[in-house]
Amino acid sequence: MNSRTRKKWYTFLVKRDGEYCKGCGKLATECQLVVDHRDNDSKNNTESNLQLLCRSCNYRKNPRNEPLDLCVSNKNSISINQEKELQFRKFVYESLDESQVIEYDELINSGAEYFGISPETSKRYLKKMCSELGQLEKFKNSPGLFRTGNKPRWKVRYKEKVLEELNQQLAGSEEFCS
Ligand SMILES: [Zn+2]
Repeated sequence: MNSRTRKKWYTFLVKRDGEYCKGCGKLATECQLVVDHRDNDSKNNTESNLQLLCRSCNYRKNPRNEPLDLCVSNKNSISINQEKELQFRKFVYESLDESQVIEYDELINSGAEYFGISPETSKRYLKKMCSELGQLEKFKNSPGLFRTGNKPRWKVRYKEKVLEELNQQLAGSEEFCS
């Protein structure tokens, strides 16, 4: 599904179903919605096979990815540690939604502070998110932006694909509002 098609379907689904997650009921103002293929066949673009899901429900449904946050009802089935990690992930994604780019160390430390975990733990969480299969990438800030002598800092952003998807959604919801 290219960006134009995705945008078209997004608008269609908003009109047909409303702009919320079919999985957990979260509104577009509370989360990022993506166009999901019910049968997980990305080529099957028939109307009845498409629905809007939040990122969390989409990841949960898609076995290749790990779940992101707690928009499921069976909270008891996950351990405290898993819950902390999921909350941390949610925190990171929400921080990224606002600014797109965040300092790596800042995320580690503010995440640790916010959830009462050690910086080592939040670093471990973040490392997974920035891994090859994760949704984020860690990059060195362009040295050109810094005066000589300043070490380049590590920053974090969505991998390009995800970022593109986010932009499409943003464009889609703008279109819907106007
Ligand atoms: Zn959901």
